[in-house]
Amino acid sequence: MRYATFAPKSRFNDAKSAVSQPMKDTTDVLRRIDGLVLEEDMWLVTCDVESLYTSIDHSHGMRAAKFFLDMTNLGPELIHFILELLQFILTHNFFVFKDRPFLQLQGTAMGASCAPSYANLFLGLWERDTVLDTPGHSSVVSWLRYIDDIFFIWQGSTSQLDMFLNHLNINSFNIKLTWAFSQNSVNFLDLSILKSSDGSIITDVFRKSTSTNALLHFSSSHPPKLKSSIPVGQFLRMRRICSDDGAFHKQAADLTRRFRMRGYKYADINRGYSRSLHLDRPSLLAEAIVYYAQCPCKQIYIGMTTRAFKVRVQEHIRDIHNAVKCSEPALLKSIPRHFFEAHNSNPKGLCFRGIDRVYIGIRGGNAKQRLLQKETHWIVTLNTLSPFGLNEAISFKSFLQF
Ligand SMILES: [Zn+2]
Repeated sequence: MRYATFAPKSRFNDAKSAVSQPMKDTTDVLRRIDGLVLEEDMWLVTCDVESLYTSIDHSHGMRAAKFFLDMTNLGPELIHFILELLQFILTHNFFVFKDRPFLQLQGTAMGASCAPSYANLFLGLWERDTVLDTPGHSSVVSWLRYIDDIFFIWQGSTSQLDMFLNHLNINSFNIKLTWAFSQNSVNFLDLSILKSSDGSIITDVFRKSTSTNALLHFSSSHPPKLKSSIPVGQFLRMRRICSDDGAFHKQAADLTRRFRMRGYKYADINRGYSRSLHLDRPSLLAEAIVYYAQCPCKQIYIGMTTRAFKVRVQEHIRDIHNAVKCSEPALLKSIPRHFFEAHNSNPKGLCFRGIDRVYIGIRGGNAKQRLLQKETHWIVTLNTLSPFGLNEAISFKSFLQF
């Protein structure tokens, strides 16, 4: 059920018509706040849902799962089956404490592999049912959620913000939020989000003052190849997070010190450092997307793009409009041709959504192949090949090894 859902528009107010848009990771958050400029009366706000996993009431959680499953085009039998499995998992969590067996009656087991998705759906429904109905929600400029961690930008007074947050805590979902806000800086996930003097947002690495050096020790028995690749991943992470070079160099020095303390060789550390130096930040944040487009008669087209999703969407819309001038409709691409034949070349009701993604920053060639594989995977999974959908061709070439 891992449908990544991100719409081209990020403003929270648009969310009512769409599935909620949980963040997948820090990079996702960085991409969404990159380039934002804060006005004088804007506030950075973070919220935390208190003990989410154990506070989800089964009936609410099941209702959320059903609500979002009904929005997919999975058949009713499959949806029923998934819900039955979910119900089983929720009602059969036995554990032993001090030699006595217990059955968990409320909430989900934190270790269950469906728990994060389940929690995401539950909070997705909470966002739709509660947040969007809370007085003052129109002052929320941007709203990002990673499971139970929320970051948003508020425009207005702090008394209104206080009122909004207190209102959020009155809900039938058993959700209690704690929060922090500032005009200058907040910490969210592993990010410090700060406002610079010109209002633009800058980001740095956030490490709790109590955090220890958790890097894997070089003397551990993991495969040597895995261990020597850790610095590369960690330096790239710093590079992505730090929006300015000064902050990156400071974090890189600290990271080098921590790697040395864990017994890593200078050669491995340097390789990671210089690799991240040679990659510019925008390319590290770049992504390739597999998306679906659904027309008013529910036919689906799966496509992909390595450029900005917004640009690709605009191209599709333009193609549909331009089809009217075409003298040879048979030569049109599948979306404009379908809209020409079935919808009077009017793109109204055409809806786009990203469903999968590949980061292209690190290994360009590999990423292209993985992207093609994902596209093929979704064409098969959602059965969008003509005549069932709007895709006209499918290729399995990307799965072959030469
Ligand atoms: Zn149609």
